[in-house]
Amino acid sequence: MTDTNARRMHAVTGETRELVDLVLDYSRRRILSEDTPLDKPLPEYELRRLAGQTVSEKGMGAERALALFEHVLAPACITTDHPRYLSFIPTAPTKAATAFDLVVSASAVYGGSWLEGSGAVYAENQVLAWLASEFGLPATSGGVFVQGGTLGNLSALVAARDSARALRPDFDGRWVIVCSAEAHSSIASAARVMDVDVVSVQPGESGVLGGEAVRAALEEFGSAVFAVVATGGSTNFGIVDDIASIAALKDEFDFWLHVDGAYGLAGMLSPLARDRFAGVERADSVIVDPHKWLFAPFDACALIYRDPEAGRRAHTQHAEYLDTLTDTTEWSPSDYAAHLTRRARGLPFWFSLATYGAAAYRDAVTASIQLAERIAEEIERRDGFRLVRRPQLSVVVFEREGWSKEDYSIWSARLLEEQRAFVTPSSHAGRPNTRFAVLNPLTTFEDLVDILDTME
Ligand SMILES: *Cc1c(COP(=O)(O)O)cnc(C)c1O
Repeated sequence: MTDTNARRMHAVTGETRELVDLVLDYSRRRILSEDTPLDKPLPEYELRRLAGQTVSEKGMGAERALALFEHVLAPACITTDHPRYLSFIPTAPTKAATAFDLVVSASAVYGGSWLEGSGAVYAENQVLAWLASEFGLPATSGGVFVQGGTLGNLSALVAARDSARALRPDFDGRWVIVCSAEAHSSIASAARVMDVDVVSVQPGESGVLGGEAVRAALEEFGSAVFAVVATGGSTNFGIVDDIASIAALKDEFDFWLHVDGAYGLAGMLSPLARDRFAGVERADSVIVDPHKWLFAPFDACALIYRDPEAGRRAHTQHAEYLDTLTDTTEWSPSDYAAHLTRRARGLPFWFSLATYGAAAYRDAVTASIQLAERIAEEIERRDGFRLVRRPQLSVVVFEREGWSKEDYSIWSARLLEEQRAFVTPSSHAGRPNTRFAVLNPLTTFEDLVDILDTME
């Protein structure tokens, strides 16, 4: 009896077939649905009332559990790929990428080592090589898909500090990262984990951090600076730092240049934005999140090192039981970031890119930029609206004149309550505002105009 129960969850039986059919049917419906509502969060007491206690000794069976997910739990999760999801940085995975995510799970691929997952690693590496060449990095660069930009930034900065330690073995002060005051919060988070300091430099009115401001920090903090982080598309505004002028400082100072392009670096795929990123080809490491503007499902960040050996030296885990993996020259993704076991999370993106081709991606990125530009012009035209900055990429930040923070909050909550859109309040320099992060190719100009109309 115990034995039967032990095998029941793994063996292929009639029960298993039904369960797999149920799950695939649901997935098929969801992937092909064109009217999945936006949905919204529920308070915990409400979920407790609706879903009750879901975990028990006996189990409730797949049919009930899936129904519970479909009718109670999923509707309590905002549909992040909805065309009117315009907050934070949205996600909008291609159909191919979403569908292939199921395949990655079904295939039980271990993505950590060449020994176990060479085919998957080969495909992932082709994508990384394609990205590297788009960014102008040398063909010898390489890296790994990690969980997100936060882990990508941390892993890159750990490698940067390791390199600095090797170059400056006698340095015994506090290490310093220099970045813009508009850099993403994950840089400060990485610094806390690493126990190093952050010097955030004011980028000035334009929001663009440039070489002169960075030079001042380098002169002040000298050899304590092991890394400079340039942001390739800030989260709040989509502002791209002047990477070329920062990179030029490498001729005079010894630092690792990391480009945080989690959201924006994908902009390089579009001829409309490519030039803004000049200088990225001199980076020692870069990140870009496929789960943002590269239309892949959660969660994936491409971390690329100019010199992958620097990443490998910093991150390879050593243990007797791992020697068989680490005593080789084979490419094991685990060696390039602060992780070991990993899903081959680059594969959904690989499948989609292989399927549709790079040109489709260029067009999708270009479309976001064009739509952002068009709605920015509309906002400028409207009385009572103020565009906070011209969009550089696809984030449009604007104010409704006279609105307080509370006005934005009430309006935003109502939009979601009425299932019209998900647009959250934000602020800049102490002034409340709101923003459209335009990324989903299914978002239309009319969608955005409708939302502006609700602010009249
Ligand atoms: C989103 C973002 C991050 C963090 O990435 P996660 O995948 O959310 O961890 C870092 N930097 C920038 C510029 C971002 O936009």
